[in-house]
Amino acid sequence: MKEEYLRSIQLKLHDLRQKGFYRILRAVEGEQSHRVKVQGREVIQFSSNNYLGLASHPRLKEKAVKIVEEYGCGSGASRLVSGNLNLYEQLEVKLARFKNTPSALVFNSGYMANLGVITSLMQEEDVIFSDELNHASIIDACRMSRAEVVIFRHRDAESLEGLMKTKKGCRKLIVTDGVFSMEGDIAPLPDFARIAEQYSALLMVDDAHATGILGKRGSGTVEHFGLERSVDIQMGTLSKALGGFGAYIAGDDELRDYLINTARSFIFTTALPPAVLASSIAALEVIEENPGLRERLWENVRFFKPRVQALGFRITRTETPIIPVIIGDPHLTVQMAKMLFDEGVWMQAIRPPAVPEGTSRLRIALMATHTTEELEIALHALEKVGKKLGII
Ligand SMILES: *Cc1c(COP(=O)(O)O)cnc(C)c1O
Repeated sequence: MKEEYLRSIQLKLHDLRQKGFYRILRAVEGEQSHRVKVQGREVIQFSSNNYLGLASHPRLKEKAVKIVEEYGCGSGASRLVSGNLNLYEQLEVKLARFKNTPSALVFNSGYMANLGVITSLMQEEDVIFSDELNHASIIDACRMSRAEVVIFRHRDAESLEGLMKTKKGCRKLIVTDGVFSMEGDIAPLPDFARIAEQYSALLMVDDAHATGILGKRGSGTVEHFGLERSVDIQMGTLSKALGGFGAYIAGDDELRDYLINTARSFIFTTALPPAVLASSIAALEVIEENPGLRERLWENVRFFKPRVQALGFRITRTETPIIPVIIGDPHLTVQMAKMLFDEGVWMQAIRPPAVPEGTSRLRIALMATHTTEELEIALHALEKVGKKLGII
């Protein structure tokens, strides 16, 4: 690379290191499970979104392998160009049933689904109301739509309504995470639904972290609140609790048709590989047939969360298997994560820009497959390291 550009990159990296925001990739060997192997060493995994442990579930593996043998590896081109695999149809029918919506459309990732749906529906003259802690993919989608973006306070219906009153005579979209990925709390959807109704705004929920976790059948926050008729657009991912890869938008038939015809992140990208679709189909079957898996996860939450609090750590107002421990200083957070790792417990340090300045945290994500013994090991390590660092 040309010298002057290289130098400016080096300076920026140096700056990130100084601020404690520098990131590295850590190589994992073998499967993503409640235990993972890193540099030949096994540690207990508390950093993934693989909440139900499906990423290494035998049913998913088996189905993916079988489909590779039948269908091969790649998909050839975009869904509109080289033909829409029948696996897509099977998966979308299952997803619509799971979400209790007329239709569903699969995208290559949650990032691309948010980008596609928000830029397709909202343009320059429109206004998007977005929670201040929404996922980065929503923020980027809002920017790319060129619509006016109005940020409301986190989970604050009053803040939303106050801002909504100032925008009259335009098309509006309210967009929120269902479960906030770095907080673990749940959006007050009933309040948002009432506001959306009153001010004639579309309501969209990003259910990346609620799919497979919340609701009677595990279909997400909309089911959790019983708001099937009030939420216009649901985004969900196949990559977190469902253990695979990809995402979808669930809603009306017309919405699906419209996205197929206008969502650029749907049109201008190669279709997912057959095995990826197959494992998602298997994941939905596993979730449907084994409600006990979800129950195990919640048992782990009930065991772990009060014990972390009792140790004296400050956690967010979480209501889900995401248990963020607020540390504050990014350097200290990284040091704590490193010491925990040395104790055999992998809890990721989350720093800005993923979270607001001064709120660096350890994001502990529980899994259904964590044993009580593993949770006890984690609590013991947290106590030891927390005391050593003077955090508790
Ligand atoms: C992970 C996540 C996404 C992005 O999904 P990917 O499939 O990983 O691209 C979008 N929104 C939220 C809230 C997420 O947590």
